[in-house]
Amino acid sequence: MNVKDRTLTRRQAVVAGGCATAMFAIGPARAQGVGDRLKVVATFSILADLIGNVGASRIDGAMLVGPNGNAHVYAPSPADARKVAEARLVFVNGLGFEGWLDRLVKASASRASIVVVSKGIKPREREGGGDRDHDRDHGQADPHAWQSVANVKIYARNICDALVAADPGAKDRYETNTAAYVGKLDTLDREVRQTIARIPLDRRRVITSHKAFGYFQDAYGIEFSAPQGVSTEAEVSARDVAALIRQIKAQKIAAIFLENITDSRLMEQIAKETGAKVGGMLYSDALTEASGDAPTYIDLIRHNLKQLAGALLS
Ligand code: ZN
Repeated sequence: MNVKDRTLTRRQAVVAGGCATAMFAIGPARAQGVGDRLKVVATFSILADLIGNVGASRIDGAMLVGPNGNAHVYAPSPADARKVAEARLVFVNGLGFEGWLDRLVKASASRASIVVVSKGIKPREREGGGDRDHDRDHGQADPHAWQSVANVKIYARNICDALVAADPGAKDRYETNTAAYVGKLDTLDREVRQTIARIPLDRRRVITSHKAFGYFQDAYGIEFSAPQGVSTEAEVSARDVAALIRQIKAQKIAAIFLENITDSRLMEQIAKETGAKVGGMLYSDALTEASGDAPTYIDLIRHNLKQLAGALLS
């Protein structure tokens, strides 16, 4: 990564993390008037970071669910409707993640194109969890596809294609930015594989609060269990918690992780009852503020990897 890139990423992260309603556009305002930039909306913080890397100074971006926010249970505000109304493009994860989006777009009377960034990835089926019945009502795919770095390369290319279609004059810039970012993702993917290769197979089992890491599990070979399903909307049942406690004891699962978007009390209680240690915090569905451990997607994966290695290699 060259120095210029690093500065860009930092500045972008500061703007993105500072405020949930902030623009995430970056780059020299003098070189291009803000009014000339392509207005885009990202539904959540991880997506905003990816779009910032591909679009850089060509875009004027806003996000809906900000850092540490939970998109599963989000209630859009009138300000969100205004952002969507003004946008040329609205970027969504898809796979049932943003259940509130259609109503928001309708209410805003927006004419924006909706870009589903997960198009072309191989969807993972939803696993059972605390909210099986609920999940059945909301389709069959697990939405957390960004937890596989290979999928995020597809996200980046889809973002690039949509930006090029809307702003063909800047095609070369979008493609250069995308190639540079995909290069960083390749490096990241190798890093994850090399680190996990050092963890003994029988240690590769952890608990998190909701089933957000299925794609990470499939891509990198760490098994995740959780008291709550792939969404966080439903209450966790006592029966599911009891089953999980039995599983932790039977499989001697070493570590339980908290998540930034969910309440940690249940996980702390499970740790106490099983004697498993709390391994730290994993970031599942949202970045942190700029001052946190995961202000960008690449930081998020690196942080999670460090936490997992720290708990499972010790
Ligand atoms: Zn989630």
